[in-house]
Amino acid sequence: MAAITKSYINQTGCIPLECPHCRRVKQISADKLPANKRKFKVKCTCGETFTTEIEHRKNYRKQTNFIGELMHAIPQNGKVITTCRINNLSQNGVGIEVFTGPQLREEETILVRFHLDNKKHTLVEKKAKVTHVGKRNIGAEFVDHFTGGQDKEIYFFLKQ
Ligand SMILES: [Zn+2]
Repeated sequence: MAAITKSYINQTGCIPLECPHCRRVKQISADKLPANKRKFKVKCTCGETFTTEIEHRKNYRKQTNFIGELMHAIPQNGKVITTCRINNLSQNGVGIEVFTGPQLREEETILVRFHLDNKKHTLVEKKAKVTHVGKRNIGAEFVDHFTGGQDKEIYFFLKQ
């Protein structure tokens, strides 16, 4: 039996399903799928059938180990608050570890800057709202979507 492939919902709410046999990609709309079902059988135009598992982007966080920077989003001139480590990344947000306790509040908007460890070493610079402040760990949700190439690169990075 063929392995189950994983598919991810992208920023536009579509799920590109790649056939493992012919590599053709078929786009389906995420809201056409029943919410409680995650595994699907897909019949490709090449005649093969494959099973794919949908990873909802909210649930899918990839463990990372990137050094980055935290900045105040307001004012826009982005004053560096502290160096941090990006511990995990999803299409929706980041888990951040700080080395010295920055004075951050929940609901505060920050700017997170780091590089992906992909081939292009893509610079990611995104606004995020702080959702959780722990002793060393901060959770933040991205507030700016559709910021172009970097979202696409995050998508491909998560898919790797
Ligand atoms: Zn195919």
